[in-house]
Amino acid sequence: MYVLGIETSCDDTCCAVLKDDRQILSSVVSSQVDFHRKYGGVVPEVASRKHLELLPWVTQEALSRAKIGLETMDLIAVTMGPGLMGSLLMGTCWAKSLALCFNVPIVGVNHLEGHLFAAYLEHQNLAPPFVALIASGGHTELIAVKEWGTYHLLGRTRDDAAGEAFDKIAKFLGLGYPGGPIIDLLSQEGNPSRFVFKAGFEDEDNFEFSFSGLKTAVIRAYQSLEIGPGDIKDLIASFQESVVRVLTKKTIFAAKKLNFKKIVVGGGVAANRALRKRLQEEAQKEGLEVYLPSKSFCTDNAAMVAACGYFHFVRNPQRYFSVKTLEPDPKLGIT
Ligand code: ATP
Ligand code: FE
Repeated sequence: MYVLGIETSCDDTCCAVLKDDRQILSSVVSSQVDFHRKYGGVVPEVASRKHLELLPWVTQEALSRAKIGLETMDLIAVTMGPGLMGSLLMGTCWAKSLALCFNVPIVGVNHLEGHLFAAYLEHQNLAPPFVALIASGGHTELIAVKEWGTYHLLGRTRDDAAGEAFDKIAKFLGLGYPGGPIIDLLSQEGNPSRFVFKAGFEDEDNFEFSFSGLKTAVIRAYQSLEIGPGDIKDLIASFQESVVRVLTKKTIFAAKKLNFKKIVVGGGVAANRALRKRLQEEAQKEGLEVYLPSKSFCTDNAAMVAACGYFHFVRNPQRYFSVKTLEPDPKLGIT
């Protein structure tokens, strides 16, 4: 069975071709970052226009890399939410048009569930139960997964998402956009113990997160200490350390509390080198297994969407939509 995945929930225009559940024949991600960089963040209006422009090219590219035609597709899986309304509209309209023209069934995919399927794609032996941490540009959530498709929210951020904190601090410090990969890289040369920062709820035995106060503390430290250019790396390394610490601590706490032996991580922040290393080290000490997608599948891509769509289509064909009923939902939750 051949699945065409389409993902346009934010500012990446993505298309992938999957054979059955995990064989990735192609995965194309056209980043719009150069168009948004000058604004220091995603401009929703610009993102939707760019999706409109890029979707035909990205789809064609994914098909030609997979050496396959649209007429061979058995299923189209498209992100229906959560995300930016304009961006979701572009992807779902495009997917619906293709489904109609080529008479192919269409399935709507939850973007957050897609982030979990990034780990599924690459780990054949991954089976629930597990604790999932989704840490991305818009979400920081801990979820208990007893079986694929059934999710129980344990806790989430009360304000900013972890990725959002990376992006906002990088923007404030004039380091560029998106902030996560830049801070990840520059932090390698910084001293993470120079400043002591703490994210909200770090010392509480619960599954809640808060990153807004942390962001303010980093900005205050920068302003009040008259930090010179040479100190920036220490500042951001210390910030990153506090994010890595709280994400690791809460995720392991959740796994132990639920007595689950596995941890799955998804979302752009899962690409962070320090987080990947710390989680693996700490989990090993506790006898837990960590399943991480490779870095390119942590951030938005359509292979994870195709895998998720295929999974649901095969198990529950009721779930697929007609081109008339599939509508984007910017606030779609995973639980
Ligand atoms: P959501 O998935 O919540 O809808 P999104 O799709 O915009 O949001 P993702 O593409 O999953 O988010 O992830 C992008 C976020 O991940 C950005 O905030 C980015 O700064 C962050 N990020 C990417 N790479 C890294 C990294 N190496 N270290 C830390 N953060 C990173
Ligand atoms: Fe995402």
